[in-house]
Amino acid sequence: MNDVLPDQAPLWEFFEDTARGWLARYGYRNIRMPILEKTELFVRSIGEVTDIVEKEMYTFVDQLNGESLTLRPEGTASCVRAMIEHNLLYNSAQRVFYMGPMFRHERPQKGRYRQFHQVGVEALGFAGPDVDVEHMVMGSSLWARLGLDGLQLEINTLGNAASRGRYRARLIAYLEGHLAQLDDDARRRLHSNPLRVLDSKNPAMRDIIASAPKLADDLDDDSRRHFEELQGLLKNAGIGFVINERLVRGLDYYNDVVYEWTTTRLGAQGTVCAGGRYDGLIGQIGGKPAPACGFAMGVERLLALLGESGTSVPSRAADAYLVHSGDSASRFAWNVAELLRGRGLAVVLHCGGGSFKSQMKRADASGARFAVIIGDDEAGRQIVSLKPMREAGEQVQLDVEQAAAMILKSNNP
Ligand code: ATP
Ligand code: MG
Repeated sequence: MNDVLPDQAPLWEFFEDTARGWLARYGYRNIRMPILEKTELFVRSIGEVTDIVEKEMYTFVDQLNGESLTLRPEGTASCVRAMIEHNLLYNSAQRVFYMGPMFRHERPQKGRYRQFHQVGVEALGFAGPDVDVEHMVMGSSLWARLGLDGLQLEINTLGNAASRGRYRARLIAYLEGHLAQLDDDARRRLHSNPLRVLDSKNPAMRDIIASAPKLADDLDDDSRRHFEELQGLLKNAGIGFVINERLVRGLDYYNDVVYEWTTTRLGAQGTVCAGGRYDGLIGQIGGKPAPACGFAMGVERLLALLGESGTSVPSRAADAYLVHSGDSASRFAWNVAELLRGRGLAVVLHCGGGSFKSQMKRADASGARFAVIIGDDEAGRQIVSLKPMREAGEQVQLDVEQAAAMILKSNNP
């Protein structure tokens, strides 16, 4: 779990601001769920035999009432729970998003943390495939807004429950025929969650996975049509993609379309965004059944990619640092600082006294673009001295409104 320090925060804020603006353009509204839920919600939705539920959840018993609670490992289940609980799906479709921390007890490494952050986007009550494509178009447009290139869209279809059942039986038979080549994880999942075997990252498993039967052969007509229409819409939107038949996703609630956005620039943790359709989940959590789909992106991985691409982030330094010395100067300084702030400027008022020289050092170190200097002379005449700190220019004496105007002007030359 990481601290985000003040020097790193501007990159986070830049990302969050960009994401909010982008979500608004597509008509998605913010929903904020609690970080804790009853454990049962995740077990039922994500699935008993998944990595997340088997070994990654922070689960504990509430000492006060014996209830089992879990720090959310993802947002979809909580989001769907909230939408049902507040009756927002009753006869209406909803487009929503959330941002915030998720918790999974994983082995920490680059791009994989125990508290990480997601931006999640959900469209509830839509059968697709138009809305599935909307989500992929959104991904592509966010990468462009962030100045990220080289992200690859990989798509697959898991079909519906019936075709997955047929495929499951064929896959189990195949894997049983190759028991000797399976690693421990694969053997453990053979009967409980055989599809996840396809998602193994163990190189020793590559060959046996490559020649495994394909789910595509078990799809029924509806799933096939949904997937074909989706591809047509993607082409029409000019979004490049590849079909990856091994893409299965680690959560049980998905059906039909699943996808990931991947990069080769982050080593092993190359998936920055992932999603798919979950038509059964709303009914399963207790709502009136309705189709839905969504995706979530890993903020830390996207920030790493931004860092890697040398993205420059707008400075968060103050516009002005206010230096003051002497009793009347200090009294005047408070008013000047508030007046400048009232004009929309970010102003740091020096606190703690000290000589002009030491205060000017602070002003410089703060990164502020201007020093506003007030001594007893300025205070007596109700003016300030304004000194540019980041570019050449003379120190000038101005009244406060003129100083505000000059700083503002240099903000938007
Ligand atoms: P992975 O295969 O990398 O474990 P996942 O399939 O478990 O990913 P999802 O549940 O689909 O991940 O979460 C969506 C996105 O959230 C991922 O694509 C990734 O960018 C990010 N993410 C997931 N787990 C972590 C983590 N432990 N640390 C940082 N980011 C993560
Ligand atoms: Mg995972």
